[in-house]
Amino acid sequence: MRSEYRAYRFRLYPGKKQMEQMAKTFGCCRFLYNHMLADKIRTYQETGKMLRNTPAQYKREFPWLKEVDSLALANVQLHLESAYRNFFENPAAGFPKFRAKHHSRNSYTTNVVNGNIRLEGRRLKLPKMDPVRIIVHRTIPSDGILKSVTIVREPSGKYYASLLYEQEACENQTAFPVRAENVLGIDFAMSGLGVFSDGTRADYPMYYRKDEKKLSREQRKLSRCQRGSRNYEKQKERVPRCHEKVRNQRMDYQNKLVCRLAGQFDAVCVEDLDMKSMSKGLHFGKSVMDNANGAFRRKLQEKLERQGKAFVKADRYFPSSKRCSRCGRIRKDLQLSDRIYECECGYKEDRDVNAALNLRQEGIRILGCA
Ligand SMILES: [Zn+2]
Repeated sequence: MRSEYRAYRFRLYPGKKQMEQMAKTFGCCRFLYNHMLADKIRTYQETGKMLRNTPAQYKREFPWLKEVDSLALANVQLHLESAYRNFFENPAAGFPKFRAKHHSRNSYTTNVVNGNIRLEGRRLKLPKMDPVRIIVHRTIPSDGILKSVTIVREPSGKYYASLLYEQEACENQTAFPVRAENVLGIDFAMSGLGVFSDGTRADYPMYYRKDEKKLSREQRKLSRCQRGSRNYEKQKERVPRCHEKVRNQRMDYQNKLVCRLAGQFDAVCVEDLDMKSMSKGLHFGKSVMDNANGAFRRKLQEKLERQGKAFVKADRYFPSSKRCSRCGRIRKDLQLSDRIYECECGYKEDRDVNAALNLRQEGIRILGCA
């Protein structure tokens, strides 16, 4: 049986002592990471070789490292080793980066060994501390085996645990014949989340937009506060809280949309965009990143494939925008500013809808539907 890994993220409510222990673990992991990395770099510069160092050596020198979860420290080593191996394979990428105290995520990952970590009702048992209150808001498949846990403290001061489970993969890859009417084309427009071949578009509800506006207002306020002042400190906490809310809303919206589309259609066809190279382009960078289209596409693909449905990508050079979805003519002179697509054949349609229709036709062609 094939197995797969899935992460479940839950809110944690640690008490004062547990928070202290977590903070200590974040600090120790960062300390160990930076020390091990510094020693690796020194050895490399002196000998050109890869140093194999382990947390045990550092525990002798810094005995207080023993006060935190040893598996979290072991994980630091694993993580650093893979980053360092990448460097050896591709030295042009440079050494792995050091972790600054103020600009790095407060998190640590620890592994499950002999039941040292357990989810018991509303409590999560972690090594070296009393069980922490946890809100398990969704069900975990009963056959899932807990493999590791990542504890995170967000800049807003909220705590989360991401539980990684190994579970049986869904094996319903019975590729059923996809009917043309159940194929959806999606064009990822520069604004909004996407335009569908049925003429509708995904747009965040107004109240989400309101929060986005609030976020930028709070950010502006922060930039006007005097650094180090009491107002500045207060405002500094408000911004990440707002960020988090916007992010959560976005995820919630995306998840619901993914569920709806995957339920309604048998196959989805999208452009094969290289999101990275696109976000580098100055003009669209921001909106592409903001709309997190990449995450949406990944989620949709996963959901469809889990149901044995198809997620297909049109070739990168497929002219989805320039092609007329009615007669197939290509308009080479189409500008980015042309919002309406007009063709010699008399066809006239919103630019993005025309592109989505082209993607749908391409999907039908690729899948060879009747
Ligand atoms: Zn035409």
